[in-house]
Amino acid sequence: MPKCHYCGKTWTWKQTFKCNLTFKKRKKCPYCGEPNYMTFRTFHRLEGFACAFILIAVILTFMKLPHLLTLAFDAGLIILWLLIVPFQYEFTDKEEGPT
Ligand SMILES: [Zn+2]
Repeated sequence: MPKCHYCGKTWTWKQTFKCNLTFKKRKKCPYCGEPNYMTFRTFHRLEGFACAFILIAVILTFMKLPHLLTLAFDAGLIILWLLIVPFQYEFTDKEEGPT
């Protein structure tokens, strides 16, 4: 789980999940209120997971499985994605870009 760059406290899964839903780059620490930013490495990791999940969903679609089974797999992938994402976060004190 991510740690605040300022106070060093570890965020809970629930806190990280909730901040992920805002889609803001700036994540306010629930303990000290200071702004934290997702590291560029985190961004790339999440992007990689998203691409992998989308690719799996597309492959499942082309496998011509029954629609209900495909929907169940896709729902499972989305739930897995939501469960994994909070563990991938790392924070820094300033917004990072590609170098
Ligand atoms: Zn903090």
